[in-house]
Amino acid sequence: MQTDSPIHYSIIPISPEAHLYEVRCRIKKSDPAGQHLSLPAWIPGSYMIRDFAKNVVQLSAETENGRALTSTRHDKSTWAIETCNEEIILTYQIYAWDLSVRSAHLDSTHAYFNGTSVFLQVLGQEDQACSVELLPPHGQSYADWRVATSLPTQDINEHGFGLYQADDYDDLIDHPVEMGEFTRAVFEAGGIPHEIVVSGRHDADMARLCQDLTRICEQHLRLFGELPTIERYVFLVMVVGEGYGGLEHRASTSLLCSRDDLPRKGKDDISDSYRSFLGLCSHEYFHTWNIKRIKPAVFTPYDLRQESHTRQLWAFEGITSYYDDLALLRTGLITLDSYLELLGQTATRVWRGRGRFCQSVADSSFDAWTKFYKQDENAPNAIVSYYAKGTLLALALDMSLRKFSDNRISLDDLMRLLWKEYGKPGKGLNEGEIETLAAGLIDHDLSDFFQRYLYGTEDLPLNEFLSVIGIEFKLRAADGSDDRGGKPAPSKNKKAAPAWLGARLSSDPAGARITHVFSQSPAMQTGLSAGDVIVAVNDLKTDKQKLGKMLHRYQPGTRLHLHAFRRDELMRFEVSLADAPKDTCYFLPADSATDEQKTKRDSWKSNSGVLT
Ligand SMILES: [Zn+2]
Repeated sequence: MQTDSPIHYSIIPISPEAHLYEVRCRIKKSDPAGQHLSLPAWIPGSYMIRDFAKNVVQLSAETENGRALTSTRHDKSTWAIETCNEEIILTYQIYAWDLSVRSAHLDSTHAYFNGTSVFLQVLGQEDQACSVELLPPHGQSYADWRVATSLPTQDINEHGFGLYQADDYDDLIDHPVEMGEFTRAVFEAGGIPHEIVVSGRHDADMARLCQDLTRICEQHLRLFGELPTIERYVFLVMVVGEGYGGLEHRASTSLLCSRDDLPRKGKDDISDSYRSFLGLCSHEYFHTWNIKRIKPAVFTPYDLRQESHTRQLWAFEGITSYYDDLALLRTGLITLDSYLELLGQTATRVWRGRGRFCQSVADSSFDAWTKFYKQDENAPNAIVSYYAKGTLLALALDMSLRKFSDNRISLDDLMRLLWKEYGKPGKGLNEGEIETLAAGLIDHDLSDFFQRYLYGTEDLPLNEFLSVIGIEFKLRAADGSDDRGGKPAPSKNKKAAPAWLGARLSSDPAGARITHVFSQSPAMQTGLSAGDVIVAVNDLKTDKQKLGKMLHRYQPGTRLHLHAFRRDELMRFEVSLADAPKDTCYFLPADSATDEQKTKRDSWKSNSGVLT
């Protein structure tokens, strides 16, 4: 296909059976000193070095007249092409066998890729517009394949194959592409067409999905007042047996979910798993503003060669996580009780780890690359999640803004300010700037707040913050290993919580495998470690389930002798069970709430924005 773009790519799933794409990249004017090309080391939104160049196979370069050019490796992600005054054409293959939202996947059932995995960046020409031709795999068995992507179209056929365009490299890599025989449904929000594209085997109620997503999208649109300028928005959903994940993009999102998360025809209740799926959609759509456009200065532009540290991820992931479920409440898709259950589960995730006393949320943001994204068995003791504690911090900030402004100003206003003055004009936020803007909105010094809860490791006094809207925060002991919090203790177990060993267990053919040992727990004191497999308690064979039941039965103070394998060595431990810590959280509307608190609760539950 002919195009005048200075840089033109074409991509074809050349061999779905071997999981190979073939990409051709034509560069009209190359660097006279020798053109360098590279693939990103990471994908925006997922803060881990992934070195996508490792999947490049068989790269070759030639001139437009077919003269072969030498290419040499410059570093792990970069190739250097020999000096040449003519147009350069590169041909290379990409191995794609990672079914995640972060990279690329290809087999005979579908093709999915992020630009970061497949499009070499022409160094020195990152700002140039480029065109991309998307081609179907060869063969009759792929005749029904279609394309779904938010890439702006230029000249495509009825199946969506053909020519697309991007403003620059940053734009090119921000529109993931799905090809295959998916289900597609269309709805409108804010006058812009929205698509939901579902790949993988499923029997989802597409009409219901459209109806619920319309409400969520309109909710966020109303909060910010407008949608950024986009042609259309696409929810790309990959359905698998068991999976969960999402990644935000400027005009689309890639989601991975379990088959059972999606609503079935003929059912109109909201299951817990459908509620999480809607929360995920809500989360990624909110990112269309908060991180894709309102972003840290260090991300404008992204340095995709190496880690890019910021202490601000709490604002982009924490605030987004706060609004994802709040939007479900505000739309009326879930009740206040249901919302408080989700909030309680988030708080429980924070309270379950003593790592919250070792790492501040700001440091958790900064170290995301090496800690949050590379969690090991010691994670609960060493780190705090900038998502979970960030959500609570956003809630506390919202309550503080309401309190100090006599309910005139809320976090909604801060988000609108961030959109108008930073996101929309494309101005990045420097470290600490969000804190200053929040304080400026209410003309009140918030430095103590941020010092304690963002840069410090103090627990948020949630009762104090939530008294503004008459909600109470409660703590109790966990009722067994499956207790995720969010609700009061089941009445049958009110009198006694299980005795505490202080280890998280998983099933193992030989017994109960320890995945995590919590600090200051009986398990740690006696020397049990992650990886140990407990095979017997008091000389009787055990497993995860039996051990769980036993803890329910025993009183704190009971001494047990355990046998466990560490590697292939049998070891013996004496352990004295303890009282379970109060690390399980839930929230309740206060019985004693005054009319004033209830009025403020109603205003928090409703969106203060208007669609402009
Ligand atoms: Zn997110």
